[in-house]
Amino acid sequence: MELSELLEKIKIIRDCDRCGRCCYCKKIYVTEEELNEIREYVNNTGLEIEFYEVEGIHIVLKQKEDGSCIFLQDHECLIQPVKPFQCRTYPVIYSPAALVVSDIRITKNLLTFLCQSGKCAYSVEISDFIEGCRARVEYLEDEYAWRLLHSEVRRRIE
Ligand code: SF4
Repeated sequence: MELSELLEKIKIIRDCDRCGRCCYCKKIYVTEEELNEIREYVNNTGLEIEFYEVEGIHIVLKQKEDGSCIFLQDHECLIQPVKPFQCRTYPVIYSPAALVVSDIRITKNLLTFLCQSGKCAYSVEISDFIEGCRARVEYLEDEYAWRLLHSEVRRRIE
């Protein structure tokens, strides 16, 4: 299953009320492909933001002093059309380091995820979720396999 297909299968039960809590104090991991997409968007929209840093073998979005993501402004995401996969599937976080869910409910064949606000929820069928996880892990393996050396990361993306 393509990742875009998984996104289509995730049903929004209650709309995001834009509290922005999910954009605070988290590592937002981006793949090289996402980095290039964001860089192009940032250049085209004239945002002029230094937005990423390399931590070990991972590329992460920078945070402001208050812990919020560098792209969060007035509860809005400045890169909404190209925000990373991790943000698009929150509260399910398929990071390179771990698969994290905040609060999860299981009913029959459906998984429901609640975000930190406790107000928004998404649901997905378990079989789709498992297939989506597998696709994401394979993608990340391909994406991160070459990043054995920090210098190699910098050479490739800068
Ligand atoms: S990229 Fe956008 S959605 Fe993702 S954490 Fe930053 S502000 Fe929030």
